Amino acid sequence: MSGTLYVVATPIGNLEDMTYRAVRILEEAALVAAEDTRHSRKLLNHYGISTPLISYHEHNEESRSSQLIDKLKAGESIALISDAGTPCIADPGYRLVSRCRQEGVMVAAVPGPSAVITALSISGLPTDAFRFVGFLPAKTHGRCQYLEQIKDEQQTIVCYEAPHRLVACLEDIARVCGTDRLIAIARELTKRHEELFSGRVDEALDYFSRSPVKGEIVILLGAAQEKLPEGTVAEALVRLRNETDLSWKDIVKQVAKEFGVPGSDVYKESLALRSLM
Ligand code: SAM
Repeated sequence: MSGTLYVVATPIGNLEDMTYRAVRILEEAALVAAEDTRHSRKLLNHYGISTPLISYHEHNEESRSSQLIDKLKAGESIALISDAGTPCIADPGYRLVSRCRQEGVMVAAVPGPSAVITALSISGLPTDAFRFVGFLPAKTHGRCQYLEQIKDEQQTIVCYEAPHRLVACLEDIARVCGTDRLIAIARELTKRHEELFSGRVDEALDYFSRSPVKGEIVILLGAAQEKLPEGTVAEALVRLRNETDLSWKDIVKQVAKEFGVPGSDVYKESLALRSLM
């Protein structure tokens, strides 16, 4: 029987946010695979856990995965943790999980904090659908190009950002997505200086430009406003009639959809136009 790989979430700041189950699994595992073993030793010490630690990070994922798979296959259970939050979420781990799945080794989640979900839950922005994009590109050129691709999303966009890049990032968001877009910025979640800024992009820029930004940051960008088509319904009807081979029925349908108005109203308008043509 092979052992189980437990993917264990740990606190993102407040050490009380550790689940009973996470503590038990870390105690019972043969080994804890951690991004930074010195950092994680402090967490384990805090809970009186003496399980040996082994490093597993983005630079040794490949080789370490093979080693860990061998141990799992030999029957040892291993707990995977990251420096904070849920492993594999903008953190190393998915390669190991994927290898385990390919090789028939059991993987079990021990859920807990993650900055993306924590920030969403207090942002006040719609959470029914959201797009998490991890870290944005670090330099302006790449960041603006990426923002161009996602600026029309009709759902909340969530990303992680380093504090020293926040203002430059907000400037790019203002340039590409507009200054009046809604935004929330969560800083130092679950910690002493926790803060949630909520407002428009220009207000956020003004607020965060006042003094150097410190701490850990999640940016949540409100969905794009649906763009109303330009011109009037009558103009759209004439344009489609002149520029396409669509039937009047299809033209009416399309214009009603574009303008978000009842088809019967557009139909009446089309009748008036047709009588003039
Ligand atoms: N796996 C982690 C998770 O589930 O949240 C995320 C790891 S990612 C490498 C680290 C980033 O998460 C930080 O740079 C920051 O953007 C965000 N983050 C982590 N803890 C946070 C906190 N307490 N408050 C705000 N953002 C946080």
